[in-house]
Formats: sequence, structure tokens, C-alpha cells
Amino acid sequence: MTADLATTPTAVGGPDLPQERRLVTEVPGPRSRELAARKEAAVTRAVGTMLPVYTVAAGGGVIVDVDGNSLIDLGSGIAVTTVGNSNPRVAAAVAAQAAAFTHTCFMITPYDGYVEVAEALNRLTPGDHEKRTALFNSGAEAVENAVKIARSHTGRQAVVAFDHGYHGRTNLTMALTAKNMPYKHGFGPFAPEVYRAPMSYPFRDGAGGGQGVDGPTAARRAIEVIEKQVGAPNLAAVVIEPIQGEGGFVVPAPGFLPALADWCRAHGVVFVADEVQTGFARTGDLFACEHEGVVPDLIVTAKGIAGGLPLAAVTGRAEIMDAPHAGGLGGTYGGNPIACAAALAVLETIEADGLVERARAIGELVTARLTALQEQDARIGDVRGRGAMIAVELVRPGTIEPDAALTAQVAAAAHAQGLVVLTCGTFGNVLRLLPPLSIPDHLLTEALDVLAGILEATR
Ligand SMILES: *Cc1c(COP(=O)(O)O)cnc(C)c1O
Repeated sequence: MTADLATTPTAVGGPDLPQERRLVTEVPGPRSRELAARKEAAVTRAVGTMLPVYTVAAGGGVIVDVDGNSLIDLGSGIAVTTVGNSNPRVAAAVAAQAAAFTHTCFMITPYDGYVEVAEALNRLTPGDHEKRTALFNSGAEAVENAVKIARSHTGRQAVVAFDHGYHGRTNLTMALTAKNMPYKHGFGPFAPEVYRAPMSYPFRDGAGGGQGVDGPTAARRAIEVIEKQVGAPNLAAVVIEPIQGEGGFVVPAPGFLPALADWCRAHGVVFVADEVQTGFARTGDLFACEHEGVVPDLIVTAKGIAGGLPLAAVTGRAEIMDAPHAGGLGGTYGGNPIACAAALAVLETIEADGLVERARAIGELVTARLTALQEQDARIGDVRGRGAMIAVELVRPGTIEPDAALTAQVAAAAHAQGLVVLTCGTFGNVLRLLPPLSIPDHLLTEALDVLAGILEATR
């Protein structure tokens, strides 16, 4: 039946797709390979594809490709389709908005969808202070704008980011991003006045035991670097992911984020939480900052915000957000009406479907299974993350020496067996799971069985 989908131009996604892993060809199959050859001839090789199966439909917890294979989705794009691909509310909202009008430019003749998204973000983000929001198109663009706002508010220039941090691929966000390959290599010079501080990384700080450096101590270590190498009077903003994404799903030790936020407040530094990957129920809270009661001055969101439509936001304290001159922020497409309609449908779905709780339940199921595997397998150095954002860090047994080759081997085998699983980490040795919250338990369990079998087979 799904084989027919491949030839049907109007393949229908959404939760009604059969929720099954089913391989009818090798992965990628012949039709995907044909498309991959066309891609190679038409698209720059600089834009890579992790698993070149060409999609015709997706929803619930599966992605169906042009060859009729149904793969289990453990990536949600990259943490984007949190409410499920082709979510019915999102699809209906997009269709209705597209039929009404597609664009006017909010800066020319505005529309209420933008205002409604801003109101919702002001209400839902941490802290009950007076807030304002600005909308953009991508995470990187929003991070850049958060820095512009912080500089405008403070009259200072320096920005601090962290080891293993990822904030995007534009010039300023490349400078904020830690990892050279593939994000920065050969693309400099980078934006000036960006400094890097040490992150709290419990697995590596504790030489594998996780006990080495507690959160407050790790914060003092970072603050020492900031005070000695930058100086608070020069510092506009500290930009940090509350749980690092591309850097390896690094969850800082408890107390690290609150201590940093306190220091920022005491020194007039704008504390910017980059929740582009962690936001919108992903971690089992609506925003990851909430886990430790941290209230950021500015919070940057994107990815999970609009079910795959391009949208991003900066939300924060009104006095900071209103610091730039009138007309100082904006862009042609920022807060596109279709993306705004999708975002409102996403927020409605998170609430109506209890997706914050669903993320927690997924986290418990996945963590229990992976922790049990870790007990039998010394190559699993660490199982970490929160909610539906869980990773395993693979190492040489008994050490913290990263095993990137094993990680690549496991990922490749998982792809061949119909799992869309992503890797990450500064050392390339982290397997990360970011399933859509619409995935049924039986697919999650099956995916974990497959992963366990692959780990067993690579021993
Ligand atoms: C993906 C990501 C970005 C960049 O978002 P784009 O939409 O790709 O520009 C920034 N910060 C974090 C934490 C991310 O995960």
C-alpha cells in the first residue's frame, strides 16, 4: 500500500499513516538512489544529507520514502516536528492561512497571527515579568538578533558562549559555535568580540564518574574565565543552551545555570537562553530552563515552534527588548503568516495532547532501556538528556576516550535497518534520540530493540 504512495503525488502524511517499520527495499532504495544522483548534479555537495531516503509522507512516528519503506523517526527533522509530522491541526491551520493570504510583510501591513504568537510566547516563556517578542525565520537569525538587542540595551559589545555550544551557521553564530568541522572550517574571519567559557560537562568533568565538578563549581570556573578574559563591564550577553544540542546533549550539572544567571543579573549582563533545540515540550518541560527555575532575560526559540514551518523568536524582558530604536529589527519574511498559524496550532496541540507529559514518559521509557544496556556494555559511557531528548555517549571501555568510529558504525547500521537516528557531539561519539512526541510506544520499543541488537552485533 505504501508502495503506491510513492507514485501518488498527493501522498498523505499525518498520524493515520500505518505506524510500522517496514522495509521493502534496501535503504536507500533504487528510487531514492536515483534522486540522490540528481541531487548530486543539482545541489552543492556542501549541503549534505545524512540518510538519503527521499520522503513522500511522514507522521506519527514514521517517515515513508519513495521506495515504499516506512522508517521509524527518531530525529523529528532535527527536533522540529515535535507535535508530529503533518500534524492535522498544523496542516489545517497552514491550509486555511494559505487560502486567506500568504504574505504581506509584517512591517508593511501587519496581521494578527504575529501578535497572537508574540502574546503566547510572552505568556508561556519562563518568568511573569513584562515581556516583548520579535519573530524571525531561523534559529541563527534569532540568536543574532538576541545579541543585537543585548548590545543595544547594555551599550557593551562582548558576548560569551560556551565550549561545545552550537548557535547556527551565519557569521555571528558561527563565531558563537564551538566546533570547527563542519560548521566553521574555511569560513572565517568570524565576528569579533565573541569569547568562549568552559561548560559544565559532568561526564567529562568527572573523568567518567560524573562526580568531578559540581554545578556551582563549574559556574565559578566559567565566571573566572569571563572576569579575567573579558570583564563584566564589557560584556553584553552570555548565550547558552540549557541542554546543549549539536555539542552532544550535554546536560550541565545542577546549579550551573542558576549560578551563571545570578552572576549575569548582578553584573548587568543579559542572560540569553538558546532554547532553539530544547524548547516546546521537548525536554519534558515547555522550556528546559524551567527544570531549575532559571528565568532568562532573553529566550531564543525556533525548531519545535511551528511544526516545520520556518519561524523563530526572541522573547524577553520588555525593557531589554525595547532598547533598540524603533524600526531597528525586522526582515522581509520574519513572522510569516503561515508560519504563525502553524505555531498557534503547535501550541494548541502541546496543551490539548498533553505533550509535556508525553515527553516525560518517552524520557522514562528510553532512559530505562538505555541505562539497562549501559550496565551490560562498557562502551556506553553515559546516558543523558531529559524528556524526549536523550543521548548515549560511546567510548572505549573503561575510559572517556570518544569512539566516533563505533558511533558512525551504529548509526549506519540503524539507518540500514530503518531507524532515522542522528549523531552529534564535539567528538562525534554521541547517538541522539529526538523522536516526535506523536510516536507510539511500540515503535519506540522496537527502535530500542533494533539499537540493542546493533550494539550487540558490534561487540
Ligand atoms: C539548530 C540550532 C540553532 C540554529 O537554528 P537554525 O534554524 O538552523 O538557524 C541555534 N541554536 C541551537 C541550540 C540549535 O539547535
